[in-house]
Parts: sequence; structure tokens; C-alpha cells
Amino acid sequence: MPTISKEFIQEAHGTVDDVRQQDQALEQEEKKVRERLNEIEEMRSNFAKVNARINSYPPSGCEDPCPRCFIIEGVPRKMKPVTPENKIDMFRCSHCELEIEVKA
Ligand SMILES: [Zn+2]
Repeated sequence: MPTISKEFIQEAHGTVDDVRQQDQALEQEEKKVRERLNEIEEMRSNFAKVNARINSYPPSGCEDPCPRCFIIEGVPRKMKPVTPENKIDMFRCSHCELEIEVKA
């Protein structure tokens, strides 16, 4: 081993410690990014199914099915008529609370 002052050795160890800390911080950051990427992939995969549901709306066997519930969840839920006001029929979904006005 070549001779060197202990301060040089200490500095070398300090530098390695700094790099290890950066590495650990990056590892944590990488883990979070991967988790978010997995979430995004799952959401996008679900959007493809959601998008395809427009082709089967309205579903058969359900009167006045809520468009939002059907498109987003694939669940046909009947929208209930609300007291008509000014010749406008209102329908409301009791699940997602969507309201639709149907003009007479
Ligand atoms: Zn709904």
C-alpha cells in the first residue's frame, strides 16, 4: 500500500458514505416511481375496458340505465325519475348521483 495521510483515507470513506446515502435515496425514489407506474398501467388497462363499454350501451334488461355507472363500473343501474319541473323530466342515479334532464 502506498503511504498516505489518514485525512485522505477519512475523506475517501466520507465520500463513499455520501454515495451510499444518495444510492439509498435513489432506491426509495425508484421504488415509488415503479409503484406509480404499476398504478398507471392498471388504470390504463381499466380504461381500455371502460372505453369498450360504449359499444354495449344501453345494456339490455335495464330501463334508463345510468350512463356513468355503466361506462365506469360496467354495472347497469336504473336512474329514477325525479319530480318534473317546468316540463323537464329529471332522472337521478342514487348510486353516483348523476342527474340527467330530458326535455319534453
Ligand atoms: Zn350512476
